[in-house]
Amino acid sequence: MYPRQFEYVAPSSIEDAVRELGNADMAKVMSGGMSLIPLMKLRLFSPELVVDIGRIGGLDQISDNGDHWSIGALVTHAQTAASGLPTALTTSASWTGDVQVRNRGTTCGAVAHADIAADQPSAVLALGGVMVAQGPSGTREIAAEDFFVDVLTSALEPNEILTEIRIPKRGGGSSYDKLGRRGGHTDYAVAGVSAWVSKNGSVSEARVALTGVGTKPTLAHGVMEAIAGTDGSDAAIEAAAERAVEGVTVLEDLYGSVEYKSHLAKVMVKRALKQAIANA
Ligand SMILES: Cc1cc2nc3c(=O)[nH]c(=O)nc-3n(C[C@H](O)[C@H](O)[C@H](O)COP(=O)(O)OP(=O)(O)OC[C@H]3O[C@@H](n4cnc5c(N)ncnc54)[C@H](O)[C@@H]3O)c2cc1C
Repeated sequence: MYPRQFEYVAPSSIEDAVRELGNADMAKVMSGGMSLIPLMKLRLFSPELVVDIGRIGGLDQISDNGDHWSIGALVTHAQTAASGLPTALTTSASWTGDVQVRNRGTTCGAVAHADIAADQPSAVLALGGVMVAQGPSGTREIAAEDFFVDVLTSALEPNEILTEIRIPKRGGGSSYDKLGRRGGHTDYAVAGVSAWVSKNGSVSEARVALTGVGTKPTLAHGVMEAIAGTDGSDAAIEAAAERAVEGVTVLEDLYGSVEYKSHLAKVMVKRALKQAIANA
């Protein structure tokens, strides 16, 4: 299948890219193109204009900025996987697609795309990431809790570019676990869970995020509430995992019924929490 006809530009600065986005009723940013191009070929997305940000300098680095790390818009999944970022992010990036996808696709692209079953958005959510968006009137910060809105829908405006993801340095330990659509860890998540835990003898705080289960990456508030203040034992994890999908609208899809996905979410919460507690 071929995409519908479209215009293509490759500006050399973020400011020019933002300006270009305002030049068409339906324009799309392209970073790695690993999701955009297949969707254009399937004609599920038919932008009039593609704004390729791949030639803009200075966006392909992960930098250490004291109280947070900064992931630039062109940092690939492979770079994130091989970085010193928290385990939830390195693991979810290393389990994203295949080698080719990881070498071209970007962490910011995966987050901006907001696929309901993508790996890294749940890690960004569990780690309390902050998205930096640049638009015609400047930059703004969007907390991960407010960023994921619905299926393939983020809080970005059509003329905004996600230039950076900030991951706060909160200490503690994190992890990611999933069952992929083809079994094991390959492909999108049937259900996946990122967990972050801080310990001070007992579990002082936890953030747990689900992917593949609802209409967007979602914090499992019931689990977070249940595990905080406990000793982090297997019994405490077991009890917390029972609340995995509390308040979450679980979606049935080709890969599982509501019952199956709800069960799998509990299993993944148990595994991810246990590992995060061990890493803390
Ligand atoms: C064979 C295959 C297997 C895959 N398997 C997995 C998997 O197991 N797990 C998984 O999570 N993903 C998987 N993916 C998706 C892959 O991770 C994509 O790379 C990712 O979803 C999008 O990143 P990208 O840089 O390629 O973005 P693009 O394809 O360029 O863009 C995707 C969308 O995000 C928008 N966008 C991109 N960057 C920005 C930005 N900086 N600012 C604003 N908007 C932006 C685009 O306009 C577009 O709507 C797979 C893809 C393929 C082709």
